[in-house]
Amino acid sequence: MVDDARNDLILMVRLQRIYDRIAQRLRQRSSPPPEVQELERQNRERERELAEMEARIVELEKELAGVVHREEECTIELDHFQKQKSMVTNQREFEAVINEIDFATKELEKVRERKKELLEETAGLRTEIESRRSARPEEEASHRQVTEAWEQRRTELTAEIRTLMAQASELEAQLSPPNRSRFRQLLERKHGTPVVPVVEGSCSFCHFTLRPHLQQRVRRAQEIIQCEHCHRILYLPELPIFGEDGED
Ligand SMILES: [Zn+2]
Repeated sequence: MVDDARNDLILMVRLQRIYDRIAQRLRQRSSPPPEVQELERQNRERERELAEMEARIVELEKELAGVVHREEECTIELDHFQKQKSMVTNQREFEAVINEIDFATKELEKVRERKKELLEETAGLRTEIESRRSARPEEEASHRQVTEAWEQRRTELTAEIRTLMAQASELEAQLSPPNRSRFRQLLERKHGTPVVPVVEGSCSFCHFTLRPHLQQRVRRAQEIIQCEHCHRILYLPELPIFGEDGED
């Protein structure tokens, strides 16, 4: 029985180390390196600027449609007054129609001036959008390396996590059923840290000081002892049975 408990404790410590590695890889996988974050930020910024320019074009085109319509109206009016001019019968009528022609001509000039501005601004924006979009593939070539390296790293991490999970289930299967369910419960309740080392007579997680007789029992490693305060399973890392912490 004592041997079984000791064996389970050894297994649990090994399991905890595996779960620590899994947690570490999960953290790494969800935190892209600064250069990738910077690229993502730049991409968002560029997309935002392009969207703003596209929206401005829509606005300009709406105004342009109105201006074109106004131009047509002015042309018709001007035509109309030109015809009237040839039909006037006296000086007063002539001056009146000349005034109208004058007014309509100025209006038409104004409208055409605005039309020109609108067309120029729209063309400018289109060129700008075009050049930014075509600049992209070139920029992306250097960016792609960064992104692909990160994708590669993520794939590796995922594979490592799978391997570690498989190792964990293998070890868990070796635990006695009561200790297995105890371990699994604590794993869930203690958010992945069910087993912690005792350091200088205290639980290294909650820093609760173990009473001397409990320290003795942890030292003997013949039973599963839980911290009186945080209920995590305790072990003494310097005991040779727990081996080295291994990689990371
Ligand atoms: Zn504790």
